[in-house]
Amino acid sequence: MSVVVRFAPSPTGFLHIGNARPALFNWLFALKHQGRFILRFDDTDRERSTVEFAAAISEDLAWLGIRPDVVVRQSDRLAHYDAAVATLKATGRLYPCYETADELDRRRKRQIARGLPPIYDRTALKLSDAERATLEAQGRRPHWRFKLDQVDVTFQDLVRGEVHVHADSLSDPVLVREDGTYLYTLPSVIDDMALGITHVIRGEDHVVNTGVQIQLFKALDATPPVFAHHNLLTTVGGEGLSKRTGALSLRSLRDSGIEPMAVASLAVLIGTSDRVEPIADMATLAAHVDLAHVSRAPAKFDPADLATLNAKLVHQLPYEAVRERLDALGIGGGQSFWNAIKGNVSTVAEASTWWRIIFDTVTPTVEDPDFATTAASVLPRTPWDETTWTTWTETLTAATGRKGKALFLPLRRAITGRDHGPEMRLLLPMMDRERVVARLKGEAA
Ligand code: GLU
Repeated sequence: MSVVVRFAPSPTGFLHIGNARPALFNWLFALKHQGRFILRFDDTDRERSTVEFAAAISEDLAWLGIRPDVVVRQSDRLAHYDAAVATLKATGRLYPCYETADELDRRRKRQIARGLPPIYDRTALKLSDAERATLEAQGRRPHWRFKLDQVDVTFQDLVRGEVHVHADSLSDPVLVREDGTYLYTLPSVIDDMALGITHVIRGEDHVVNTGVQIQLFKALDATPPVFAHHNLLTTVGGEGLSKRTGALSLRSLRDSGIEPMAVASLAVLIGTSDRVEPIADMATLAAHVDLAHVSRAPAKFDPADLATLNAKLVHQLPYEAVRERLDALGIGGGQSFWNAIKGNVSTVAEASTWWRIIFDTVTPTVEDPDFATTAASVLPRTPWDETTWTTWTETLTAATGRKGKALFLPLRRAITGRDHGPEMRLLLPMMDRERVVARLKGEAA
């Protein structure tokens, strides 16, 4: 059986690190099993769904490195849902209900007051044809509920093992609203059937839906797919990440210099028994990730961990991976520049700091002008290479008796204006000799 998975966002907001997780789990699962990945926009909520959000989601997925094989929109597929509704009505599994939201609310309150679970009591099932006709004559339009089998629905979850959903403690779910629009439950099942979805990987907030949806698959004579429900991401304080957590949206992470593979590595490893480490590419991450390792407890996300992981990833990036971005930022210097400084930046864009220090004007810090003058006087002639720094500092030790920090720190401060940074042995040969001499003299150069 070849694997077919889908990621099914509602285009009602931007992707953030939390709701990118099902996209990543599905994508990695497809990669691992040479399967297909479908992007399905759950856009039946016409008021909240927008084409702009759909476009932004596609763009953010592309940034992550997720390339869907197929893209579908539920708004294009309404005829399929209508056909299923006809079947469910014919088999008596979908029944019309006429209660208003207010009536249902009052009924729920009465049930709670009497210590009963607030489950829909199936009053509408008992309506006679004449009663329904009267209600319709009063101008009421029905919404439609799926008549659940009141049994324990059991399934094997790839994350959670055997899962039970007690359908006898659930209300019959509304599948079609009064105005004929669809709620999420039915269209999802129809699409999963029609598109041959083999595995549904989604957040554990959908476990109860799965119980209901398994009954729908069966009511429509289909075999349910395999399910996997991953844990959800929360803030360090334990709150859920809502769609509106702007700072954690993929686009704002991207704008703040976070690498897509840092997001991907953290997002899928954080809630597992595996160590969170930066993984360089999706294929390696796919081989690494195992749904059975996903924890059942929520995964706590600290943005500081993402920054740390990003820095580790950046330190490992080869020049080829950043060349275009450095060019776009106007940062030259090529491979030797990148290799010299990458260990000292936490984002690729930060390379510009070192670019300016090496190739642009810096005001140096010279605390001991005599020492700096001596240093300038024994500075080797060009051409320079990676041995020049050692030659120079050994000469300086011989001339001044200075060693260690007393020798290196004043030179670093004078030449870079900073206390810390990349190895001077690598920086020096990239620099202009006149500039180094000027900075040793305390001149901005
Ligand atoms: N649109 C649903 C959601 O975003 C899809 C859930 C599913 O994967 O079936 O939660």
